[in-house]
Amino acid sequence: MCPWTRRAFVAGALSLPVTCAAADAYQGSGAAGAAAQARYFPNHGDPGLHVAEYDLRLTYHPPIRTLDGVARVTATADAAGDGFGLDLSSALTVSAVDVDGVAAQFRHRRGKLRVTPAGGLAAGRRFVCEVRYSGRPKPLRTPFGEIGWDYTTGSPGGVLVASQPLGAPSWYPCNDRPGDKAAYRMAVTVPEGHQVVANGVLTDRTTVPGTGTTWTYQHPGPMASYLATLNIGRFVFTTQDGGPVPIRNAYPMRLATAFDHDFGRQPQMMRLFQDLFGPYPFEVYGSVVVDAELDQPVENQTFSLFGVNHVDGRRGSEHLVAHELAHHWFGNSVSLAEWRHIWLNEGFATYCEWLWSEHSGGASADQLAADNWTDLADDGQRLRIGDPGPDRIFDDRVYSRGACTLHALRTTVGDEAFFATLRAWATEYRHGNAATGEFIALAERHAHRKLDELFRSWLYEKRLPPLPQRV
Ligand SMILES: [Zn+2]
Repeated sequence: MCPWTRRAFVAGALSLPVTCAAADAYQGSGAAGAAAQARYFPNHGDPGLHVAEYDLRLTYHPPIRTLDGVARVTATADAAGDGFGLDLSSALTVSAVDVDGVAAQFRHRRGKLRVTPAGGLAAGRRFVCEVRYSGRPKPLRTPFGEIGWDYTTGSPGGVLVASQPLGAPSWYPCNDRPGDKAAYRMAVTVPEGHQVVANGVLTDRTTVPGTGTTWTYQHPGPMASYLATLNIGRFVFTTQDGGPVPIRNAYPMRLATAFDHDFGRQPQMMRLFQDLFGPYPFEVYGSVVVDAELDQPVENQTFSLFGVNHVDGRRGSEHLVAHELAHHWFGNSVSLAEWRHIWLNEGFATYCEWLWSEHSGGASADQLAADNWTDLADDGQRLRIGDPGPDRIFDDRVYSRGACTLHALRTTVGDEAFFATLRAWATEYRHGNAATGEFIALAERHAHRKLDELFRSWLYEKRLPPLPQRV
């Protein structure tokens, strides 16, 4: 949903690039335009590098909070050159880097690992880079708080990872941009008595007496780096019947009764969203509750992350349970081409909260849209949510005005064209990346009419448009 911000960020500690003008944002909202625009976080990710797989072999020592890692990164580069860059926190120390089995020169400074293979880099040729590293991981300080690898407060030795949007380099070397998605394999060794929850399916668990237990998870993805997660703690594992999709959950034992109630309707949510948007895009789903309080849950791929404060035994956070599941269609499968298009994640997942409310006997989407529109109108501050600026991608208005944008589309084109558009969006861009202009084009195709004025007024103008009435 939103980055984890338990600790307040000191405003102004990081400088951010200047955002583009509204006209540029609209004209450039297609894929080509997005490529031509400045990225929101140009220090993260290498646009010319494409990772196919991350194979992470990690050993974690809870008493001393130390991580030993070997990351094998299988990738290609667009252009021939001397080398490439990966993102990795400077809190970790790199001891060796090989490329295709040959020792490579490297330089690790200010969160960037620059690798220079002995024979250079050929355009389009697949290579395997192996990075050996170790240290005491800690969260990265970002405009969204301290995020990434962190420690649970409720039980000793626990770890949680909530990286959205910039925290992934806190624990593994990666090409940290949402447009580069890859497969993952994680083999994580922890002392006996600790358990590991990571993306995908647990394929092996092997205990070596005196050494610990290695938990191996595999996820074909494709997955953006910020959605990779690793949680270490003491969990109860349970399953729910999600129809064709296995649903498994993990949470602290003391929350069992409350969890069963609060997350008990995940199978119904899964059915509703599959009916509306098409098949769930991945091989497995589940929710993990870590022993810490989190400001917001996060849609880590195949294993959404919640804090103990989201489990109250009264379904007080059920709208967020729906929100994080919905992100698996909108955000995780259909991913952002670039962070400026964040309303495609948050506006959509918020609207799915409203669809779940309507479906489950709560307030209707009409009512929720009207309530949110009133709140936006009462708030004198306006935000162009189609290009909100790098420091405002998780502003509340991206969520509420984004959902209202979808409701305005629904009331303008009618339910049939609207839901056909959402289903086509989830289908045609499944496991891909997309930008706002592509959504507008798709909506126009299904509505058989131009909709540029509607989207311009809702996404790229500050003034709040009136909410269209249902015809
Ligand atoms: Zn969200």
